[in-house]
Amino acid sequence: MAKLDENKKKNVIEGLKNYLKEKEAELKLLYAKTRIDLKNSQKIMKPEDSLSLPNVDLPRINPLEETIKELKKTILRVEKTEEYGTCEEKDCGEEIPEDRLKINPIAKFCLECQKKRDKKDKEKRKIAGMSGTRTGYSGPIY
Ligand SMILES: [Zn+2]
Repeated sequence: MAKLDENKKKNVIEGLKNYLKEKEAELKLLYAKTRIDLKNSQKIMKPEDSLSLPNVDLPRINPLEETIKELKKTILRVEKTEEYGTCEEKDCGEEIPEDRLKINPIAKFCLECQKKRDKKDKEKRKIAGMSGTRTGYSGPIY
């Protein structure tokens, strides 16, 4: 596994931090927008509607928060291990192509391994779905 030299490490961390800033700004905007949506929806909500879910942009906020968490972890990892862009799958260690990292700076796996993982995830979800609510998440209450 190739370690980054001092210069490259600096560049990588800077790039990641810029990306982090972008994402944090995006999240802030979404939060602000959500607050406005909430306010508006509360105004028009009648008491009998109080059980209905407000128009919160969770499907977009959640993955964004996840990305920010991952980014922070990645920055710490690069600082500590001086490694970046190497597939983390056991027995792989392939370099992740730069193009892939440009689109997704927190990619941890090469395309091949990611595909395999996605497939496994899908199968896992299928099994979890069959055995009922083992995750404890029962979805929104209607
Ligand atoms: Zn791999």
